[in-house]
Amino acid sequence: MTQNVENLTKAVPPGVTEEGLEKALDAFVAALGAEKVASDAETLRAYRDPYQISTWTTNLAAAVVKPTSTEEVQEIVRLANEHRIPLWPIGRGKNNSYGGPAPQVNGSIIVSFESMNQVLEINEELGYAMVEPGVSWIDLYEAIETGGHDLVASIVDVGWGGVVSNTLDHGLTYMPYSIDQASHCGMEVVLPDGDLIRTGMGAMEGNKTWPLYKRGLGPTSTELFMQSNYGIVTKMGYWLMPKPEVYMPLWLRSWNDDDIGPIVDALRELMLDGTIDMRPQFSNTLIMASMMSSRKDWWDGDGPMPEHIIDKIAKELNLGRWMMRFALYGDEAVVDHRYAKLKKRFESISGVEVTGEKYEKSEWKNLQNPHEQIQIGIPNLDLYKMASWYGGEEGGHVDFSPVIPMTTTDTLAALSFMKEMVQEAGLDHMAGLLPINARSTTFINVLAFDTKDEDQTRRAYEVAKKMVAIAGKKGYGEYRAHLSFMDLAADQFGFNNHSQRRFNETIKDVLDPNGILAPGKSGIWPARLRNGNNA
Ligand SMILES: Cc1cc2nc3c(=O)[nH]c(=O)nc-3n(C[C@H](O)[C@H](O)[C@H](O)COP(=O)(O)OP(=O)(O)OC[C@H]3O[C@@H](n4cnc5c(N)ncnc54)[C@H](O)[C@@H]3O)c2cc1C
Repeated sequence: MTQNVENLTKAVPPGVTEEGLEKALDAFVAALGAEKVASDAETLRAYRDPYQISTWTTNLAAAVVKPTSTEEVQEIVRLANEHRIPLWPIGRGKNNSYGGPAPQVNGSIIVSFESMNQVLEINEELGYAMVEPGVSWIDLYEAIETGGHDLVASIVDVGWGGVVSNTLDHGLTYMPYSIDQASHCGMEVVLPDGDLIRTGMGAMEGNKTWPLYKRGLGPTSTELFMQSNYGIVTKMGYWLMPKPEVYMPLWLRSWNDDDIGPIVDALRELMLDGTIDMRPQFSNTLIMASMMSSRKDWWDGDGPMPEHIIDKIAKELNLGRWMMRFALYGDEAVVDHRYAKLKKRFESISGVEVTGEKYEKSEWKNLQNPHEQIQIGIPNLDLYKMASWYGGEEGGHVDFSPVIPMTTTDTLAALSFMKEMVQEAGLDHMAGLLPINARSTTFINVLAFDTKDEDQTRRAYEVAKKMVAIAGKKGYGEYRAHLSFMDLAADQFGFNNHSQRRFNETIKDVLDPNGILAPGKSGIWPARLRNGNNA
């Protein structure tokens, strides 16, 4: 295989010659038209991991194809089988901090859905949208607002990502339907052999409950297409919530670094009894500060930022040492009751304060705080500033995100080893809890670096890998893994001699005997590229 970063068109897939790749590209051009196929170095630069050092020679695509219909996706899959070319589907290609748009295997052809970006239906009565895989959060918001619908979509922090792609990677949004990543319902999928299926009730011709009821008859395959490489999703249902009478964004500040335990206990209680019915973000000072300022505004020294500087930031930006953003939605009387209850519970912890203000629908568009916009489904790009903590425009980060039980014991145990490891690597510890549901939470560690500083970048990747392995030994698995340590993250799921991997790869070999679809995604390799035979 040739890997030449100056001429990215030379990245060829394992087991394929340069001539074989050229022949395949000619076939893609003949089938789709030249305007939908690109393999020049300039275009491909945009499909690299934006946080990777530019001289690194992994995760290089050979070409990008941009289908405009499901039939074209089927044709792409057929040609990939014929020429044994790996495909890597992306929605908006913004999976930054987990690898961006880049493929796992060098020489893959990226299937980009940027031209399949239609909101196909918004159903006001039943509260759902049916979307194509290139629809961004911004597109969906605009379609809802332009159509004058009394509905709102639960969205992510940075609005340029895709509804389908983010959902497929188990992405986290923040409104009530986001709990347990439960907004999606019904998928249409092109299988690796080109066949087309619809999951759940979609398997029945004319069944109107496809985007309404999550199951069908017999096993439901929807979840099998998430974080996997068993199919390419070409349509998906996404539930929309009726706009509530009142929206009340809330802020909790804690000035004592050690209060994280009691706050987590209170949060769990309030989520278990339904008082808090959405996904809070509970972040340390540095994560919050990174969305509002740059590191050099405070301190430009090497090594982890000293505690007294963090205290200064906490005070000057009025963040506290831990800050929770969360919200209430509903009828005013219900919101008032819940607010009084949660305020009393949280403020029973000494030094903790909770504040918030209620807004009616007509006021939402005037909200200025990007966090408060996001929690009511108004997308923006403001929080992307976080990526420039070190290195400004050329800053980046890899995320290590294990899931832990939402208890004091587990929170403190995880915090202690993760903080120590990050600081030992000479990096600032930027971390936050994003509950999955009332019982479990992701503990996101943002390992930030300056991509101009190769040593620092390497340290961030290396410590992330070490954390994956150590967390695995402690029984904490990742909710989502970066390309650079997907295999390692999957290795941690070792119950009964890796029976889950054997199960996943058995399915893979049946569905995708030529191993063309997203080889290596979530550590699932097709037979011909298994056991390290993929370079
Ligand atoms: C500052 C910052 C903030 C972030 N905030 C959040 C957040 O709030 N919530 C969150 O979840 N993430 C967050 N992220 C992580 C990530 O950037 C987002 O999840 C982003 O939206 C993912 O990009 P995308 O939707 O364009 O996915 P893509 O890059 O298009 O796709 C992601 C993956 O999904 C799969 N895929 C995509 N399309 C298909 C398809 N049609 N069929 C089959 N498989 C497919 C592929 O495996 C692909 O690699 C954040 C990152 C940064 C840097």
